[in-house]
Amino acid sequence: MAQEVRPERCVVAVDGPSGSGKSTVSRRLATALDGVYLDTGAMYRAVTWSVLQAGVDLTDADAVAKIALETELSIGTDPVAPHFRANAVDVDTAIRGPEVTGAVSAVAAVPAVRKHLVDQQRAIIASYPRIVVEGRDISSVVAPDADLKVYLTASAAARAARRSAEDATDVAATEADLARRDKLDSSRAVDPLRQADDAVEVDTTGMGIDEVVAHLLNLLNSKVSS
Ligand code: C5P
Repeated sequence: MAQEVRPERCVVAVDGPSGSGKSTVSRRLATALDGVYLDTGAMYRAVTWSVLQAGVDLTDADAVAKIALETELSIGTDPVAPHFRANAVDVDTAIRGPEVTGAVSAVAAVPAVRKHLVDQQRAIIASYPRIVVEGRDISSVVAPDADLKVYLTASAAARAARRSAEDATDVAATEADLARRDKLDSSRAVDPLRQADDAVEVDTTGMGIDEVVAHLLNLLNSKVSS
């Protein structure tokens, strides 16, 4: 059965636009693999929280990078409860708030911030036997040698409906915010969101979580046994 797949070592990269189901699917997949989970978006969010705390001008790339490099991140990789701390402060709630969500794409567009976090992401990936990593540039930049590369998509309406149900926000406002972030994330100069040539696209519109996870386990099974 597909659910029994548990390779000794594997890296699974899950990229895609906001609200495509990456977090839920990646956490469930990591649990099924008895592996760990790395939420790279939460790393960009935690650094953004620190930048906002410092009150620096978001358009000043040098100042933003300086704060990012000084921020001490504690990065949880437990797929059931992935807690984050920045400079010893618990930021799990704050990094999901509107201030951080509104600023994160600008901070993530700063090349020095990306380099700093990508280095940390690669070190974390190398230190676990089985890991599922979600983000925007995992297949293309962070882990180009991943055993399975997935590009999760869903219709704009489905993505907005899911996100607004999670966050208890207005669907139309959520759809507009997702479109804004997707545009910024896809059009930035460094490591933009894009589907890697060898990534498998999975459109989750109309699919349940169990169905998506089972499909990814099957894909991984065929990759690691081929
Ligand atoms: O995945 P999440 O929506 O939490 O990511 C927040 C933001 O972090 C994204 O909109 C994007 O700007 C940035 N990000 C990124 N590269 C990643 C993960 C997230 O630029 N690998």
